[in-house]
Amino acid sequence: MIDRVRTARVIGGSLGGLLVANLLWRAGWDVKVYERSAQGLTGRGAGIVTHPELFEALRQCGIKLDDTLGVRVKSRITLAPDGTTIGELPMEQVLTAWGQLFERLRRALPDACYVNGLGGLSTTECDDGVFLHRSDGQTEKIDLVVAADGIRSGLRAQLAPAVLPQYAGYIAWRGLVDEQSITPATRDLLFEKFAFCLPPSEQILGYPVAGPNNQVDPGNRRFNLVWYRPADEDLALKDLLTDHSGQLHTGGIAPQRIRPEVIANMRQAAHDLLAPQFAELINRVEQPFFQPIYDLNSEQLHFGHTVLLGDAAFVARPHCGMGVTKAAGDAVSLVTHLNTASTIKDALAGYSAERVQFGQAVVSFARQLGAYMQAQLRTPAERAMAERYRSPEAVMRETASSQVFSIDKTQPIKHTTYQE
Ligand SMILES: Cc1cc2nc3c(=O)[nH]c(=O)nc-3n(C[C@H](O)[C@H](O)[C@H](O)COP(=O)(O)OP(=O)(O)OC[C@H]3O[C@@H](n4cnc5c(N)ncnc54)[C@H](O)[C@@H]3O)c2cc1C
Repeated sequence: MIDRVRTARVIGGSLGGLLVANLLWRAGWDVKVYERSAQGLTGRGAGIVTHPELFEALRQCGIKLDDTLGVRVKSRITLAPDGTTIGELPMEQVLTAWGQLFERLRRALPDACYVNGLGGLSTTECDDGVFLHRSDGQTEKIDLVVAADGIRSGLRAQLAPAVLPQYAGYIAWRGLVDEQSITPATRDLLFEKFAFCLPPSEQILGYPVAGPNNQVDPGNRRFNLVWYRPADEDLALKDLLTDHSGQLHTGGIAPQRIRPEVIANMRQAAHDLLAPQFAELINRVEQPFFQPIYDLNSEQLHFGHTVLLGDAAFVARPHCGMGVTKAAGDAVSLVTHLNTASTIKDALAGYSAERVQFGQAVVSFARQLGAYMQAQLRTPAERAMAERYRSPEAVMRETASSQVFSIDKTQPIKHTTYQE
């Protein structure tokens, strides 16, 4: 055991980085978060499904859990393309928003621990720690680097260059609609529910989240939409990612740069394919945006005194609604191991073994849930899963469901009918 204050630098100041930084700070570490973005991250992101493991991590970060954290729904509903209800399932869940979690986690951490406009570039190991080379040209020697720098992690590219995101063959259109702009009929049918519609090879889902200023009172909330659509990598995806000047944005296109005709085509498709209630909602989204869907699987999360965490470590397709909860579980696991192991290296090895098992299980299960939307189904197993998740019952029971996952880290998944 080291008998001085231990030093950690967290690279990436989004939800994963803030979760681990808060826990390390509470455990007595000298911790600093380096976030590349100079402007600050508020206003990013959309709806987030919650699970008990996320609440537990927030509690450990000292965050009060009350009714303002999100909007509670009691059931799920599936609409047919003609707008009739073809399935309903009781399932209580709290839906929150990225901004709500970010603000609470950021407020919980002292300002001196969070630095905007500074990047972590690379690391060099030494016997008793690690040198972190920063974007301002400085190098510091510290005990621990946590790479929470997302799916395109620069530190992972240095430490595990073979681990790359794999495009899943479809995208997710996303958007938020103000509660007050929704017609009363659609609002009454959908707003208090987690709702789905399943046109052939597509899926749209929606649920209520807090309003623009985090209001959760009726009338001031918003409805969060996620619409999965197949997009072949070579043609359709490239076209979607190309802006009006012809520039291709391979890593993701900013909402303002999406070509107007791409948005017009998407709205027309909503009219042609979706239940009219969902088409209405899609039409009312002011600034739709889309994200290509990826899988990212790691074999190892520890490299000397550096670890990968959150989306830098694993990215599961969003159908499990587990991205933030997994980052929270990573953070709790890492700090628990650091608190109990006799050396930092032992702690990081213990963390890696535990979270690789969990991460791989989530990625694999999310693949099953998403097979229905893939532009190409490559194996009989993928075709079997695509068939299974045509059924509204299976989709409502297993999408973003807290019951499918166990918090017991040795039993990540209860459901399993499919071996890859
Ligand atoms: C369509 C869709 C729906 C989703 N729905 C849900 C959901 O319902 N529930 C859920 O839990 N999750 C959901 N997610 C996933 C969720 O958004 C992420 O899993 C979660 O935000 C954890 O991300 P992170 O903090 O690890 O990385 P990120 O949020 O990607 O943050 C990485 C941060 O690192 C910074 N950075 C990058 N490089 C550097 C550098 N060199 N130096 C310093 N900083 C750097 C970036 O600026 C960024 O702020 C969804 C994702 C998608 C695409």
